Amino acid sequence: MLNVEAVRDDFPVLEQEVFGRPLVYLDSAATMQMPKPVLDAVVRHYTHDNANVHRGIHALSERSTRALEDARERARAFINAESADEVVFTSGTTGSLNMLADMWAQTMRPGTAIVVTMMEHHANFVPWQQACARKGCAFCAAPLDANGDIDLAAFEELLEGHDVSLVSVAHVSNVLGTVNPVRAIAALAHAHGAAVVVDAAQSVRHERVDVRAIDCDFLAFSGHKMGAPTGIGVLYGKRAMLERLRPVRFGGEMVEDVRVGKTTFEELPLRFEAGTPNYVGAIGLAAAIDYLEQMGRDNVRAYEHELLAYAEQRLGEIDGLQVLGNPQHRAGCLSFTVEGAHPFDIATLADKLGIALRSGNQCAQPLLYEAYDVQSITRMSPAFYNTMGEIDRAVDVLEYVLKLLHR
Ligand code: PLP
Repeated sequence: MLNVEAVRDDFPVLEQEVFGRPLVYLDSAATMQMPKPVLDAVVRHYTHDNANVHRGIHALSERSTRALEDARERARAFINAESADEVVFTSGTTGSLNMLADMWAQTMRPGTAIVVTMMEHHANFVPWQQACARKGCAFCAAPLDANGDIDLAAFEELLEGHDVSLVSVAHVSNVLGTVNPVRAIAALAHAHGAAVVVDAAQSVRHERVDVRAIDCDFLAFSGHKMGAPTGIGVLYGKRAMLERLRPVRFGGEMVEDVRVGKTTFEELPLRFEAGTPNYVGAIGLAAAIDYLEQMGRDNVRAYEHELLAYAEQRLGEIDGLQVLGNPQHRAGCLSFTVEGAHPFDIATLADKLGIALRSGNQCAQPLLYEAYDVQSITRMSPAFYNTMGEIDRAVDVLEYVLKLLHR
């Protein structure tokens, strides 16, 4: 069981008023707040141990390097990768997926295809679309069913109808909250000879992300969605897959031998980490992992599930409010529209009353514009530091705001 009041003591940012009202932060799908142990780990490193990594033999550089490599091991264990060599530090999910798409593009043959789904965030859509355009490949987006789940029959048809080299799919949708059956999707894709990428940006905090259980070939996530600092993320790749790829970012630390005529590259994972890595971000990520583990990942998951189910029930009581999708499993967030009220106005007025919601297209234009034919939604995304009372407050404020807008 999670003691929310004790948890909240770890998040000083939540203890504030905005516009004279207590802050209710319900935008954790965009960025989760950082707990004190993470802030402390970052300050501690800058205060005592800071030096560039892998480059010096002096004490501080060695401490920094050790902390970075410890963080890599923590990240490995967190996603149950076989080896820390399979964990590449990046700037985040977007950085991971762009780098992977650029590397994968070098292996793509014209006439083959890449399959994503209609619920992808632009970060897991545009890089693949652009790679396909460059390489003369087909780019397909698997449709969703009426509930906002992936239409698995249509997905399989795409696999059968094309020579698919790779499938890339979100573990959890950042709009609908749909939890996708990534294990089944991976099995299906592998049966058709395609590699599998999982965008775990939204799942990494609440779902158990186990790369070996999923049997994905690659997986990407961002630290800031799980309590770590911004600017750090991970690209996981199975060793055999990473070894087949050529780096696309070049510079210091990723090379083994550089001559005018030829350059050879470092072993995994350094060959994919050109330049000074965000080692303090990685140290913060390790602290965030420790924090979540200490909290108990199953406790976090169970409580966040309760919060979201309660939010869905309470929002359902509001006249004219339509929650987008009704997927079999939902986690992390839900989005809604209200007849006659623009999401921007809802979020702006709610903000003035202390409630932090998100409005817009959530970087998922194909989902909104093409699958749901809506221009904009309001999203609520609680995290384990939120209380049921805060959900009630948010719903009360929404009812009030909608009255004003409908006047
Ligand atoms: N994928 C999903 C599902 C997301 O929700 C997000 C961010 O909201 C991203 C990718 C991109 O993450 P980042 O901006 O941290 O790179």
